[in-house]
Amino acid sequence: MSNSIKQQKTKHLNGFSHFEIGDDHLYTGIDTPLKKDAFDMSDEDKKKKISILFEEIMNVMGLDLTDDSLKGTPDRVAKMYIDEIYSGLNPKNKPKIALFDNKYQYNQMLVEKNITFYSNCEHHFVPIIGKAHVAYISSGKVIGLSKLNRIVQYFAKRPQVQERLTNQIGQELKTILDTEDVAVIIDAKHLCVSSRGIKDDTSATVTSFFSGAFNSPAKVAELNNYLN
Ligand SMILES: [Zn+2]
Repeated sequence: MSNSIKQQKTKHLNGFSHFEIGDDHLYTGIDTPLKKDAFDMSDEDKKKKISILFEEIMNVMGLDLTDDSLKGTPDRVAKMYIDEIYSGLNPKNKPKIALFDNKYQYNQMLVEKNITFYSNCEHHFVPIIGKAHVAYISSGKVIGLSKLNRIVQYFAKRPQVQERLTNQIGQELKTILDTEDVAVIIDAKHLCVSSRGIKDDTSATVTSFFSGAFNSPAKVAELNNYLN
């Protein structure tokens, strides 16, 4: 495997290198790129291995791992990666969702707004902090409101790009709720844009997923009304 940072410019990337593609936050598809054997290793073994590897990164940077403040960092990082901030990679952590009959016959749009999430950019492994707004029109089934929040958190806890996060939440809601009528809007700040690279502290990125009834401008206007 090549360890060179400046990789070959390849034809299928339109003449850009992998390094440049990542810095521009382009992405390749809706599914998180995972290896086939991604979950063959147990979480405990993953944590042990990540701890060793992270210790090596700190060593290479010249940090003194015998210092009491740094000593536990490799273990802490490993635990945080697997149990917390990247726990959404593992399908076993997917929230269990129970559907209920729509007893109230509420057939208008339901909007859950301002769901705060913390994710991480897959190109730089630094935080993406944002708010998600999700909406759906019931096809006869409803889910608990907290579950909408849990679905957002599950997909956020992966190395992500914002467009994929938006699409993954939208597709999941369509499947769970058995309806096409789903909308997701995400408004987020990328620390890799504000704290490094172009160092723009004020910009935010907005992405959307509109499906079914939400393809109509009237429905989108109604949704925006709820959000503003
Ligand atoms: Zn980034």
